[in-house]
Parts: sequence; C-alpha cells; structure tokens
Amino acid sequence: MKRVYLDHNATTPTHPDVVRAMQPYYEEIFGNASSVHRFGREARKAVEEARKNLASLLGAKRADEIIFTSGGTESDNFAIKGVARALRDKGNHIITSSVEHLAVHNTCKFLEKNGYSVTYIPVDKYGIIDLEAFKKSITDETILVTIMYANNETGTVEPLAEITKIAKERGVYLHTDAVQAVGKIDVNVEELGVDLLSLSGHKFCGPKGVGALYVRRGTKIAPMQIGGHHERNRRAGTENVPAIVGIGKAAELAGKNMAREAARIRDLRDRLQEGIEKSIKEVRLNGHPARRLPNTCNISFEYLEGESIILNLDMEGVAVSTGSACTSGSLEPSHVLISMGVSPQTAQGSIRFSLGRVNTKEDIDYLLKILPPIIERLRKMSPLYKE
Ligand SMILES: *Cc1c(COP(=O)(O)O)cnc(C)c1O
Repeated sequence: MKRVYLDHNATTPTHPDVVRAMQPYYEEIFGNASSVHRFGREARKAVEEARKNLASLLGAKRADEIIFTSGGTESDNFAIKGVARALRDKGNHIITSSVEHLAVHNTCKFLEKNGYSVTYIPVDKYGIIDLEAFKKSITDETILVTIMYANNETGTVEPLAEITKIAKERGVYLHTDAVQAVGKIDVNVEELGVDLLSLSGHKFCGPKGVGALYVRRGTKIAPMQIGGHHERNRRAGTENVPAIVGIGKAAELAGKNMAREAARIRDLRDRLQEGIEKSIKEVRLNGHPARRLPNTCNISFEYLEGESIILNLDMEGVAVSTGSACTSGSLEPSHVLISMGVSPQTAQGSIRFSLGRVNTKEDIDYLLKILPPIIERLRKMSPLYKE
C-alpha cells in the first residue's frame, strides 16, 4: 500500500545525513564531553561544533547563547520557569497568548497555581494576536512575555518583531516558542530582538529528545536542572552527544536547503489546498491565508469529526492529524481554533495537513484522489448533514 506522511508538525523523519553524522558518536567517539582525556575532548569538540551550527542558523552573535535541552517542551519550561524564578522580586506577571502549545500554556497554568498572575492575549480569526490588547496588558509587574512564532496547528506566523519591540520598550523579556518556525522560515534572533527562543530537533529533520534554548547574553534565568557544571551551570547532566551532533547537522542542512525546500513545499501545500477546495464543498481554511508556514494547511470539513477522517485516511496509508499530537485522544475541540472564533462543531471537523522534505507531487495527488470519496461517505453517515 502507498504510504503518505502529512504530519510533519508532529514530527519529521530524521534526515539520513543526520543519522550518518550521529552514528560514530555511539560507538567510536563515545566519551563524556566533560572528561579531560582525548575521548572527552573529541566529544566536547563535537558538542561545540553543533552549538556553533545552531547559533549560525539563528543568527545569534555568540555560540554560548545556545543551551542544549531535551527538546521543545523542556526549552519552554526552562525559559518560562527560569525567568519567573530569577525575576520573582521584580514582579509576578506573565503575558502569553491564547493559542500556545501546551508546553507553554500548561507551564503558565502551573505558575498561576504558584503565585504568579498570567494574562492570555486573544487572537483574531486568523490566529494573530491582538497587539492593542497586548500593549495594554503590560504592567510594572510584568516580567516575561511568551508568545509563539508560528502556530503548530494552523501555521499562522505571529508578528513577532512588533511584539518584541513593544515588550522591549517596557523593559520586559520576550520568549518565543519557535519550535515550528525553525527550519521552515527564517528565524533570526537579532532581527526579531527576542531574549529567549525554544527549538526542537525532531521538528526539523533532527533526532527526537534534543532541543535548545537560545538565551541572549545577560538575560537573568534560574537553572533548569541542578547538578554538575554542564551548559555553563544552566542545565546539569551529561550531554546527549549523539543527539546534539544530530541537531547540529540538522541545523546545518536547514541553513543550506531552507529557501529551496520552503518554495517546493509551499507549491505542494497550495496544490493540496486548492485541490481540496475545488473537489469538496463546505470546507474552510483555519489560519492566516498568507502569513502562514509554507508547509501547513488546516482545514475544517463541516458536519464531520476529525477523528473519523484520520482513521479513514489511515486505512488508505495517509497520516494526518487533528491539530496537535499532544492533545489527540482528548475529545475537547482545539483551544487554538476555539480562540480564533471557530465554532466547537466546525473545530471538531478540522484536519491539519503538514508537509515536509519527503513529500512529492504524487503524494498530494494520491491524497486528492482518495479524500473526496471518504468525505462524501462520512457525510452521508453524519446526522448533521443534509444534502
Ligand atoms: C512539538 C512542539 C513542542 C514540543 O517539542 P518537543 O521537542 O516535542 O518536546 C513545543 N512547541 C511547539 C509549537 C511544538 O510544535
């Protein structure tokens, strides 16, 4: 059976060059990067090379502004809790948006239970945050703004440079979850002006279980883990050298290939979207039509449950999802779509198509062949649907 993977915002296949780059660090170059001997020094050298690759991809001034973590979730936790703790004496107010990934959203909820106050800024129908409401929400107590760069469910890209400018004018740190942006669109920490930025290896063809937090030099942040002196006392624990080598390689490849790949993938995504809009009635695009990741397309199919579409596509070898992989299994409609004013019923029928490196025109044409009859069949069975 043909298999088509259209769920790259959940995770990506690791690039073969990344796997090849990692392999020697399991067997031959296995040293502890903190050891003084040659085994250790070789591992250290590889870790520092990877750090430079990431710094270069992000346009960071210094490689030591990159701290390796276990992934996007840890980077988000680290940034938000780390600043909250470091600046507790300055204030207790945090600002975020209503469309964040759970790694940010639930970390903010956790802090709310622990004496901090959090403002959730609303978004418009495209998922773009309300800049006026944001401006008004900043107080003398505000210590951190955490707003994502690109949304994992809809692909909507926030006006981050403007958001940062407003935060900086008030002397407030700005953290962004850029997990979905890195490797898909240009992410430059100097142009964006951000103080902290989260990324994750497995979202851009690197390995799972490794990520990084960019921390602008001079930013006050409490350590994530206590122990040895790793990562300049910010994140104790023996470095996962093979995974770090892998994310470094993925960063190098992203830097080299991004512009070309993004254009290719955008064409495929547009082919998919136009194909669906042409062949299936009563669909709606969720997310900004233009200010959007080139690989993402979130579509609601009226009268249907997203879960049943997923299962039917899965039987034909096609992998898609309803929004976020982390919230699947819960029957609640997506908080992202609800925040955008989508009705719960329409939100339930939404599917996220997210494309990537491995996709071809044949993949899209296969999907466009099998999807319309599936939707038609499911609608005939739907109690909500009247022809
Ligand atoms: C996937 C994702 C995360 C979590 O990253 P992990 O490395 O899987 O922990 C955080 N934020 C966004 C926007 C994501 O898409």
